[in-house]
Amino acid sequence: MTRADSSRMETASDSARPEALTGEQQPAGQTGRDLPLVSTDTPSGRADFTFSDILDVDEIQRIQDAFSAATGVASIITAPDGHPLTRPSNFSRLCQDVIRKTEKGLANCMRSDAVLGRPNPDGPIMQPCLSCGLWDGGASIFAGDRHIANWLIGQVRNEAQDDEGMLAYAREIGADEGAFREALAEVTQMPTEQFRQICQSLFMFANQLSQIAYKNLQLNREIEDRRCAEDTVRQLNEQLEERVRQRTAELETAVAELRVAKEAAEGANRAKSVFLANMSHEIRTPMNAILGFSEFMRRDSSLTDGQRRNLETINRSGEHLLSLINDVLEMSKIEAGRVTLRPGVFDLHALLDDVGTMFGLRTQDRGLQLCVERRPDVPRYVVTDEGKLRQVLINLLGNAVKFTERGGIVLRTAVRATGEKELRMLVEVEDTGTGIAEEELERIFQAFGQASAAHGVREGTGLGLAICREYVRLMGGTITVCSELGHGSTFRVDIAVEEGQPQDASKPVPTRRVIGLASGEAPRRILVVDDHQENRSLLARMLSGIGFQVREAGDGAEAVRLFEEWVPDLVLMDMRMPVMDGFEATGRIKAMPRGGETPVVAVSASVFEEDRAAVLGAGCDGFLRKPVREDQILDAVREHLGVRYEYEKEATDPTARLVPRLDTAALGRRLGALTTAQREALRQAAVELRPETLLATVEEIAGEDAELARELRALVDEFEFTRILDLVDAHSWSA
Ligand code: ADP
Repeated sequence: MTRADSSRMETASDSARPEALTGEQQPAGQTGRDLPLVSTDTPSGRADFTFSDILDVDEIQRIQDAFSAATGVASIITAPDGHPLTRPSNFSRLCQDVIRKTEKGLANCMRSDAVLGRPNPDGPIMQPCLSCGLWDGGASIFAGDRHIANWLIGQVRNEAQDDEGMLAYAREIGADEGAFREALAEVTQMPTEQFRQICQSLFMFANQLSQIAYKNLQLNREIEDRRCAEDTVRQLNEQLEERVRQRTAELETAVAELRVAKEAAEGANRAKSVFLANMSHEIRTPMNAILGFSEFMRRDSSLTDGQRRNLETINRSGEHLLSLINDVLEMSKIEAGRVTLRPGVFDLHALLDDVGTMFGLRTQDRGLQLCVERRPDVPRYVVTDEGKLRQVLINLLGNAVKFTERGGIVLRTAVRATGEKELRMLVEVEDTGTGIAEEELERIFQAFGQASAAHGVREGTGLGLAICREYVRLMGGTITVCSELGHGSTFRVDIAVEEGQPQDASKPVPTRRVIGLASGEAPRRILVVDDHQENRSLLARMLSGIGFQVREAGDGAEAVRLFEEWVPDLVLMDMRMPVMDGFEATGRIKAMPRGGETPVVAVSASVFEEDRAAVLGAGCDGFLRKPVREDQILDAVREHLGVRYEYEKEATDPTARLVPRLDTAALGRRLGALTTAQREALRQAAVELRPETLLATVEEIAGEDAELARELRALVDEFEFTRILDLVDAHSWSA
């Protein structure tokens, strides 16, 4: 702020060297000269703020002006590099107009300022100016530990300085003595101690102010950082949400595609079910007629031996064809994943005995031996799927008989314990037949796989073992074979079973076949109306075989005439016929004197709901859907005429269905206990030929009526959709 040359400065430093007010304040190892003019240290690591960033320079200017006006001390604030941040306040003419006008004075002034501008965190510095000897002071201003400015004050004379001493400076720098003397008279005089206190106060005040401002800056930055972080988080969130939106859209597309694929698959499955249902309907129905008639005719005592043999061939071929169809249907069900395990407790000994009896006759016929060996520890009651186990045994024994010309067959059973109640059951079927070549041992378990050694035995589809393998797999086991060409084969089944309790065993009620009217029942008259002669005569023969009196009519007109003439007790009426259809014939019969009380049971091939309503509207009392089975006809007759039948003592066919079979009336009663919604669900699924939906509804029903569910399940398995429809409809009628 004042000027003096370098030699003067040295002189000055002897007597009046720059004074740090706090004594040993400079950091160790650092002299004022060593300290950088601009500190690069910043507490926040961001050297990116200046004095004017944290303090309002205009406000500071006002404070500075007020300070100078109050004290008479000159004042200015400079940046660490020396450039002014505020305008000078109260600068003396001596400095401005006299000293700084000389070259030497200006240089000394700047040198003095540089000393005062050095950063000193410990307090202000005081020194006489090199140019004029007036006292100056410098207070470094820090923000944190960053040196941001210097508050320079001074241009005061102290009590020790006389005019002559001061004029020496004027001469030294070559200033005009007169002007110097004149300007000196205006200079503020102040005791050194007072100046020191002013310097000290200014230092404290300025630093206090800048530290507060700095804290404020930090706070603002933190807030800004937080806002930035929040912005980043918000952006990330938005990106995330966008990504989730995209993913969701992709997923929705994928789900939609899957749904389309699923619907296509379901459509294909449904088509398959429709095909299977049609096939089972189209082939089984005429097969039933073939088997029924041939069986029926075999009982005719007037047949010649040749005719009987021919009939037996027809019967055998029919049975064979039926079993092929059943195999194909079963395989389709396996492929569709619709075959499931239905475990239950049953009498294993009885099952083995049954199978033994069944094959005993066949082996006898072929001159073969059959030996059934059961180890003593094989428990009587076990838990597994009885139906499937029986089917496996029948398949294996059937094959053994089929492929064995001489020798015999052994069926062995043994068990081995694997847990407290868990057992492995081993079943072996050994024969002395053709055997199988080693390279074909695996192929025979594949669908349609047949071995070439089964020379000439062309019976079979090649599905039996594939079905067996699937059944055994479901029963938690394996099936293997050991065989040597020409030396027979041994099939081994190893399945998991549990020992069961006799009280839990289901007691199979074999299908009881009606063999006639119960004793004491008066013979009743039944009129069978159908334009198809075969249908008519099959029904007529069956009914007369039971003991009914039967007449046949080929159309509605004939039926009306016969009714009038013969007065039957019940009419079985086909609805679609030439000449006069069943609707008109029923209407006319019902209009006759005895017609009103005579039940007319419609027999229709239609599956449509509106036809059922039309049939009811025409006055029919019952409705049977074609193809009609013997037991359905007999049930309907019993229901409408109240007749009682005599039944066969035991099931004649040990392979007959194993589930206890409920008769139509019992089924009707149980269906009646279901909710309308459940019945409608069954009906809808049956009409639409949807086995999965049917099974799902059946599972719902199982909780309330397990027996009914089992029966319905069996019907679904057999693709008997029409029968299910009949049962549900029959109930709706009676309800
Ligand atoms: P299918 O008997 O209807 O042809 P299977 O799947 O039951 O179908 O059997 C597949 C093939 O395995 C048979 O065609 C036959 O070649 C062979 N096979 C099965 N069991 C025996 C057996 N006990 N002896 C010889 N070959 C057998």
